[in-house]
Amino acid sequence: MTSITYEHKAADGLKQLGLEVAHAQLDTVAQQAAANAWSYSHFLGYLLAGELDERHRRSVELNLKFSRLPYLKTLEQFDFAAQPSIDQRLIDELATGRFLYEGRNLVLLGPPGVGKTHLAIALGVVAAKLGHRIHFTTAIDLVRKLKRAMDENRLPREIKRIAHPKLLIIDEIGYLALEPIEASLLFQAISQRYERGGSIILTSNKAFADWAEVFASDPVMASAALDRLLHKSTVMNIRGDSYRMKEKRGAGAAAAIAAAQTSTTT
Ligand code: ADP
Ligand code: MG
Repeated sequence: MTSITYEHKAADGLKQLGLEVAHAQLDTVAQQAAANAWSYSHFLGYLLAGELDERHRRSVELNLKFSRLPYLKTLEQFDFAAQPSIDQRLIDELATGRFLYEGRNLVLLGPPGVGKTHLAIALGVVAAKLGHRIHFTTAIDLVRKLKRAMDENRLPREIKRIAHPKLLIIDEIGYLALEPIEASLLFQAISQRYERGGSIILTSNKAFADWAEVFASDPVMASAALDRLLHKSTVMNIRGDSYRMKEKRGAGAAAAIAAAQTSTTT
């Protein structure tokens, strides 16, 4: 083949191999390479880096698009100084994404407003940026979806879908009381994730001691669910006042909330 044919082959070949970005950038990068006397491997590396960067950018975009995250929050937006009960080093370690390869879970426990959902979402964003599929759901949405699937005879398929993403975030376990059938569906979802080795980030306002209540007053199911969740897990007990209320403290809202909490717990 003559060199002209090979030049055509370079562009056609990239296209045929599906390297669309490299194909689009070939001429420009080749000119840059000639102008700067790049080595052949520098040229090839540069061209491929453009392709890989764009692929990564698109995959992150898709991961976030299909994540069902209710909104975006980042770890940078989290004020660790305002939340001394959280060990920032632990969050930094989780943000490396290693827990996802180990199939470890993260359980965030604490009262309303202390940043559980914020952290769950921010770690979800980190996972998406590392190239992982993630799925966010509230506990109640999850059980409702599974219930509907069961009523329509497609529960196994729906349970499989739950097992699929690398990271499943289940927010707000324990906020609403579940019916026995709903509790059993939540248990099945947790079990399925456990068997497939997929990580869960879970948030709850209920201490483990109160989880029987979460599972429709079924202590056996609650302890079986906790067994699976906690087998490989990091548990963070977040304490303190609601961050939202801290911001509004001047208006006396924190005192009002505290008074309301005292009256419901006594
Ligand atoms: P929870 O899920 O524990 O009820 P959220 O994560 O929804 O609480 O937090 C309530 C609001 O306060 C959110 O807007 C969140 O971004 C913000 N927030 C909570 N804690 C912090 C913090 N330490 N730094 C910055 N924002 C925070
Ligand atoms: Mg929340």
